[in-house]
Amino acid sequence: MSRKATRYVKIDARKCKACWKCVDECPRQVIGKIDFWFHKHVMFRHSEACIGCRKCIETCPHGAYVER
Ligand code: SF4
Ligand code: SF4
Repeated sequence: MSRKATRYVKIDARKCKACWKCVDECPRQVIGKIDFWFHKHVMFRHSEACIGCRKCIETCPHGAYVER
């Protein structure tokens, strides 16, 4: 499964500021972190588990998630 999209949402990693709010908000632990010094953003770790609840879209202050 994709690291940039689930059935319901897509990530625009360029907009991610690595605040990790969405990681805590996702009820299914779908979202993971790429966390290197100059390379920090979210990716989908378990995209197949996404239920389309939209919490990630509503949580991100930088608009990094969009509906598919
Ligand atoms: S839509 Fe819901 S389940 Fe899917 S990644 Fe976003 S917060 Fe997690
Ligand atoms: S809430 Fe937005 S800016 Fe913060 S980690 Fe998630 S995608 Fe990145």
